[in-house]
Amino acid sequence: MTKQCITVIRGDGIGPDIIDSALQILDKVGCDFEYDFADAGLVALENHGELLPQETLDLIAKNKVTLKGPLTTPVGEGFTSINVSLRKKFQLYANLRPVLSFKGTKARYENIDIVTVRENTEGMYSGLGQVVSEDGNEAKATSIVTRAGAERILTYAYEMAIRDGRKKVTAVHKANILKSTSGLFLKVAREVAQRYPQIESSEMIVDNCCMQLVMNPHQFDVIVTTNLFGDILSDLCAGLVGGLGMAPGANIGTDCAIFEAVHGSAPDIAGKNLANPTSVILASIQMLEYLAMGEQAEKIRYALKQVIESGDRTTRDLGGEHGTSDFTQAMLERL
Ligand code: NAD
Repeated sequence: MTKQCITVIRGDGIGPDIIDSALQILDKVGCDFEYDFADAGLVALENHGELLPQETLDLIAKNKVTLKGPLTTPVGEGFTSINVSLRKKFQLYANLRPVLSFKGTKARYENIDIVTVRENTEGMYSGLGQVVSEDGNEAKATSIVTRAGAERILTYAYEMAIRDGRKKVTAVHKANILKSTSGLFLKVAREVAQRYPQIESSEMIVDNCCMQLVMNPHQFDVIVTTNLFGDILSDLCAGLVGGLGMAPGANIGTDCAIFEAVHGSAPDIAGKNLANPTSVILASIQMLEYLAMGEQAEKIRYALKQVIESGDRTTRDLGGEHGTSDFTQAMLERL
């Protein structure tokens, strides 16, 4: 049987440390993957003179499954986010950002289990119509919601809910003010909800949703929403379970998928062996489930639970005193 080959983009900042941690763990549970390493972002700019080389795009397309570290988007004109470019280029329309409580973190809540299903290619991140007037006094951007895009993400959310035994889907919008874009999303949400009577459907205005997530997060199960709201709400959800170090993200398209941490390259702690690798480890678990390797996924999840709950060699963001390499060692010893 041919081995599954994974494209690996180690990224920059804390990326290489946390990706190496995840690869050691995948190898330890006997995944037997082959890896094609590819450059993107700052590393690619240095090595190839461009942020997203064709060679990298070809490897993502060839292997169809990519594990990616965070990429710094240089601040300044002329640089579009590489992450946004990748999502658009490969039509990775569904961004799944689950958050799950682990005992032993400094999180404010227990028993949180919420998945944000974020539309990943349209909305305010369409990249269209971004103009600043010549005098610099007026800026514009275009938000796009299509019926096809809304229906695709809403259907994905309900199908995922059924597959994963979830009970409730909440469509989040701002249709009271953004009557065209959010209005269309809500209209389609109501139509799609009709097709899934076995799932409880609810709808919520985004500002209220933020408040409800802080006051009573246990009412949520699956949240489905447009691009910008999904980006913000998923960070809020990460905050409920102990922060960005605990939040993975899968970017799923019809043909390819890219798995990554929700957080960025954390330049403030880069190169200091301080990063918590949990988000990328959880993203690897998402990747294994996508590849129907549930047994290996479960082994890693169990070891992660044990390490975090016992506080054995955990990182500072989790209340521990250890670094990325010690945390990884604690994981490897349990696998
Ligand atoms: P960030 O997510 O990198 O960091 C925010 C805060 O969280 C920092 O204090 C950081 O130390 C902490 N943090 C993040 N990950 C952590 C981890 N694994 N363990 C412990 N602490 C962690 O956000 P930022 O500083 O706003 O962004 C830095 C760069 O990353 C920017 O260039 C941004 O564009 C980029 N970014 C990339 C991605 C991606 O590649 N998917 C996502 C978000 C931001």
